[in-house]
Amino acid sequence: MDSLVPRVESLIGRGLTPHLTVIVVGDDPASQVYVKHKVKACQRLGIRSSVMRLPSSVPESELLDHIDRLNVDPDVHAVLVQLPLPKGFDEGRVVRRVDPRKDVDVFHPVNAGKLLLGDPGLEPCTPKGIVALLDGIGCDPAGKHAVVVGRSNIVGKPIALLLLRRNATVTVCHSRTPDLGAITRQADILVAAVGRAGLIKGDMIKPGATVIDVGVNRVDGDKKLYGDVDFDSAVSVAGAITPVPGGVGPMTIAMLMSNTLEAAESCLTL
Ligand code: NDP
Repeated sequence: MDSLVPRVESLIGRGLTPHLTVIVVGDDPASQVYVKHKVKACQRLGIRSSVMRLPSSVPESELLDHIDRLNVDPDVHAVLVQLPLPKGFDEGRVVRRVDPRKDVDVFHPVNAGKLLLGDPGLEPCTPKGIVALLDGIGCDPAGKHAVVVGRSNIVGKPIALLLLRRNATVTVCHSRTPDLGAITRQADILVAAVGRAGLIKGDMIKPGATVIDVGVNRVDGDKKLYGDVDFDSAVSVAGAITPVPGGVGPMTIAMLMSNTLEAAESCLTL
């Protein structure tokens, strides 16, 4: 992440302090932790951060008004609505309200469309972090069979697109995929983004495969975080495997910082 410091310094040198605003609605404990990590990352890099905390009773129209104001605030370059929102909010409507130029989570249909078409633009943080991890270990997806388990708009679909863009042959699995193991065992690169602790066991992994575990799962009565991959049985089979916590999570935060800088930089080039 420290490699981003020169970009921050360059922006500040040109009179622009990059500024990320995070909106948190309600008091979901996991969200509070995630927001703390984001603020800490900003502090470490010299990015300005603001957290707008709203009660879960806030009317959706008021939340949308706040987003509208941030969209036109020239001192704010990046706006993120921390998910999940409390029950009763239309998450799709809320995240689509963020100006696509400030949409560092890359949820807006304009940005999702650019991603699909391969146009330049912001890339979603977790998938972008996964690609950076692969690059970091010299794993070129080109010509490899990448299997993605999960098809969410946040992780599964966009990582499939990014891997396709990097010339992998991509298979996407989901809850209706029969005999998951028969497919995951074909993967040179296996991305697990399911939200089920330990779903992927060692015997579902091709020996030597690169395994990216996106899952962050809490198991009842246990403070520990668990991935979607059963690390103990997978570690001796995989060629490389990301741990949980400490693998994809920190990369996601780093890419959020990178997207914040990209959004700020684009203000200078307008
Ligand atoms: P979603 O719940 O939105 O999607 C889960 C996907 O997994 C769905 O496509 C679902 O299929 C599929 N699925 C569920 N059960 C099975 C199964 N038994 N076999 C195969 N596929 C299955 O989750 P997200 O994508 O938002 O998140 C996935 C995990 O990644 C979570 O643990 C989350 O906490 C974590 N996460 C971590 C991040 C990080 O920075 N480290 C960032 C974002 C998420 P279907 O579509 O058919 O329902």
